[in-house]
Amino acid sequence: MKVILANPRGFCAGVHMAIDTVQELIDLIGPPLWVFHEIVHNKHVVERFIEQGVTFVDSIDEVPEGQTVVFSAHGVSPAVRERAKARSLRMIDATCPLVTKVHVEARRYAKQGCKILLVGHAGHDEVEGTFGEAPDAITIVESPADVEATNFSADDQLIYLTQTTLSIDDANVIIGAIKAKYPHCKAPPKEDICYATTNRQHAVRDMAKDADLTLVVGSQNSSNSVRLTEISETDGTPARLLDDKSGLDDGWFEGVETVLVTAGASAPDDLVQAIVQELADRFGAEVEESTPVDEGMQFALPVTLRVMKSQATP
Ligand code: SF4
Repeated sequence: MKVILANPRGFCAGVHMAIDTVQELIDLIGPPLWVFHEIVHNKHVVERFIEQGVTFVDSIDEVPEGQTVVFSAHGVSPAVRERAKARSLRMIDATCPLVTKVHVEARRYAKQGCKILLVGHAGHDEVEGTFGEAPDAITIVESPADVEATNFSADDQLIYLTQTTLSIDDANVIIGAIKAKYPHCKAPPKEDICYATTNRQHAVRDMAKDADLTLVVGSQNSSNSVRLTEISETDGTPARLLDDKSGLDDGWFEGVETVLVTAGASAPDDLVQAIVQELADRFGAEVEESTPVDEGMQFALPVTLRVMKSQATP
């Protein structure tokens, strides 16, 4: 068996920043510490922080008054910030700057009187946060049928925005439906699907054709990980999504000579390496790492945390 390790794969700059934020806070002030929603959508990342005393909540009311709460990489709506303020919480905002960019666009276009079609998955943390920036102006569309069901007029100023972690192909289908129904609908000034999503999808598209099976390391609720499996399958290579090596099933590998291994943007690389080692142990797999890619992206820690750190330094 040959294993091809995809590049780029795994952690993006936003996930690095969000995870570093929680770790630095643990080191600085220790538990108790609360995080609103999963800091990133990965089971192991969350479990590792729970072991260090972090509590993850889905309601701000679960955080005791006056305590510290971290907002996850997916961002939050203004209503969540207001609620946290009302409870006198110290807020540390680990929202990825590329998600914040979409929030800023939503606010700006709503203020200009535009109607916004937000292409994304209803109920996803990121989409809920963006929607909350301008609920009266935003309509969420998940499919061409959703677009068809809308009823804007030629006089409405329309713009579409997208979730950052969509499949580029799926998004293009929905955007095509928007343009067909509303030719006057404007596009965002700069692509909303982020560099990390784009690069990981392109890598799978390039490399899956040389494999008999694609393994995507990531959690079921990780949007960008699920999209990677879909891309491989659409291009004819079966794909499996797994959290860690315990998810490997010998039945997947019958007649399989080449396996592509990649990881969603929230999956730690030690889990990838453990899977590769397992394939070497079970099947004598030889590993070929594709050319590493420097994505050249790094995000600073949240301002509040940087101030806390500078005040703690003697
Ligand atoms: S996947 Fe993209 S938008 Fe999401 S945290 Fe990573 S860089 Fe930011």
